[in-house]
Amino acid sequence: DLDLELVGLTKRYGDTVAVDGIDHLFHAGRYVCLLGPSGCGKSSTLRMIAGHEAVSDGSILLGGRDVSHLPPARRGTAMMFQNYALFPHLSVRDNVAFSLRMKGVAAPERHARADELLELVDMDGYADRLPAQLSGGQQQRVALARALITKPQVLLLDEPLSALDPFLRIRMRAELKRLQRELGITFLHVTHGQDEALALADEIIVMNEARIEQAGPAREVFDAP
Ligand code: ADP
Ligand code: ADP
Repeated sequence: DLDLELVGLTKRYGDTVAVDGIDHLFHAGRYVCLLGPSGCGKSSTLRMIAGHEAVSDGSILLGGRDVSHLPPARRGTAMMFQNYALFPHLSVRDNVAFSLRMKGVAAPERHARADELLELVDMDGYADRLPAQLSGGQQQRVALARALITKPQVLLLDEPLSALDPFLRIRMRAELKRLQRELGITFLHVTHGQDEALALADEIIVMNEARIEQAGPAREVFDAP
């Protein structure tokens, strides 16, 4: 159970300051939603935490250890994207097991682990299909399993539900919440939806113009004047 701490985290793209020295402590195991207008720096923040984007300044601590210069696979974080980004030519099982294959885990073990994760997201029975043979919601569950197979301490979600129809969106919310409770890991979820944040979050962070404008329990943040 490792807390995630951002200290003076900064991202500059040329003259643009996308993230301007943010400080925040994420308690282990919480579900945190990150809200704010387009362009305020949410994705850049997530990508820096995940290691998909270099930090310009400041640091990212996980359990007190500075992970800000480690490669993505060695940070204890995993990221799930809006568009799922499954490999179209790989089976569902091979998609989920992909990161284990990169690490050199032998086929029988990585297949067994992939099947466990598919069961966790209620997708057992689909292991041999191709992504194109699945619905959007099913592809998304596979993407979740693929992110979780690395046993992250922190799961980063960049608008994971925005491509789903309203019915599926509500179902996936419940799934995400269940996974948080079962796994006990930290969820950091970027969303545009206030209702989504209210339904999911233990804590809400509102960013504006590259800074954190507000942070606290959902009700306090939305009731504030
Ligand atoms: P959000 O996720 O809140 O929409 P982003 O983190 O995507 O915000 O973007 C924050 C700011 O940084 C915006 O002004 C955006 O145009 C800029 N930005 C994001 N990514 C890049 C990039 N790769 N190169 C240059 N500017 C970028
Ligand atoms: P978001 O959905 O977070 O708003 P965008 O659609 O702004 O994301 O950005 C999508 C991709 O384009 C990201 O990889 C981001 O880094 C890149 N990007 C965003 N803004 C810029 C920019 N001003 N210049 C170059 N790349 C950018």
